[in-house]
Amino acid sequence: MKSIPLLDLQKQYLSIKKEIKGSIDEVFNKGRFILGDNVCKLEEEIARYCGAKHAVGVASGTDALELSLAALNIGRGDEVITTPYTFVATTESICKVGARPVFVDIDEKTYNIDPRKVEKKINKKTKAIIPVHLYGQTCDMAPIMKLARKYNLRVIEDTAQSMGAEYKGKKAGSFGDTGTFSFFPSKNLGGYGDGGMIITNNRKIYNTLRNLRSHGCKKKYYHLINGYNSRLDEIQAAVLRVKLRYLGDWNDAREKNAQYYNLLFKDLTDKCIIPFKPEENKHVYCLYTIRASLRNKLSVYLKTKSISSAIYYPIPLHLQKVYKYLDYKKGSMPVSEKVSRDILSLPMYPELTKSEQERVVTEIANFYRKAAK
Ligand SMILES: *Cc1c(COP(=O)(O)O)cnc(C)c1O
Repeated sequence: MKSIPLLDLQKQYLSIKKEIKGSIDEVFNKGRFILGDNVCKLEEEIARYCGAKHAVGVASGTDALELSLAALNIGRGDEVITTPYTFVATTESICKVGARPVFVDIDEKTYNIDPRKVEKKINKKTKAIIPVHLYGQTCDMAPIMKLARKYNLRVIEDTAQSMGAEYKGKKAGSFGDTGTFSFFPSKNLGGYGDGGMIITNNRKIYNTLRNLRSHGCKKKYYHLINGYNSRLDEIQAAVLRVKLRYLGDWNDAREKNAQYYNLLFKDLTDKCIIPFKPEENKHVYCLYTIRASLRNKLSVYLKTKSISSAIYYPIPLHLQKVYKYLDYKKGSMPVSEKVSRDILSLPMYPELTKSEQERVVTEIANFYRKAAK
């Protein structure tokens, strides 16, 4: 039986092999490996794609968050509101600059931060909100931006999983002070290694970010602020420029695949909850994530049928050992805790075929039929 992976990067590579090899070879020939033309052009192209004025390439999505916080002067003594239902990088960056993460539970339908629960957590120490656009669709940004204006808070959009997603016709990442992206290979726009990008409409933030990523200097060896070594690699930028040209098509293919999954799940609605997409959202399905009864057993069963699945995320951040000092108790984020017990991501990538999707859902149906006996 042919296995169905969660993501198939080999298939994608084979479809663009010639272009990728050509662009990498060009970098090798030129011999400029740090902040060359490709980084510069990719920044322009991504800013344009996202409808933002500026973009700054950095070493990873995690660094994109940390440099954003640093550029906005957030640090010791400050609080930053975010979701406990995200990858740890979101809160890692908050802690790295010396600030304290404050968790707000998620909405049970979208799995994104629940804007209705944010205001209660705002106090004098609150400096920023980091909404995370999980699985490929944006948070409900209108009420978040409204709160940010009311309390003069900064907004950093963690858009690592949602490049190309839209909210009311506007691209994810372009609402806040900055929007951060990751080029980790498994993201919708993935490199062949680590990489990240920050977009902003604010010229001052843009200039600060450019200094921060390169040891705090504008002119070489004239250091203005304490900076980082966090640059997007020229080779990765060359790869990503090729891939960016296909991102729209790939995201559309993911959307089509999601719609087909939704159709296939029609007879399983008593066992599985399919992704919910509000009307105003364009979802780019970085992951196709369902909630499934008997989740753990189902996942093991699928594995025996050579079908991959994954749990994003098994333990919400407020219950992780590393955040014990924040003193959140079990039961304090009930929706995140509930969702973490039955969430399951299924194979999803542009090249996934209809027959593969049929096999995935047929096996899920088989599992529940056998479990009922
Ligand atoms: C992947 C991811 C990141 C981190 O990106 P890296 O490039 O791996 O550092 C941050 N936040 C979220 C939500 C992610 O999914």
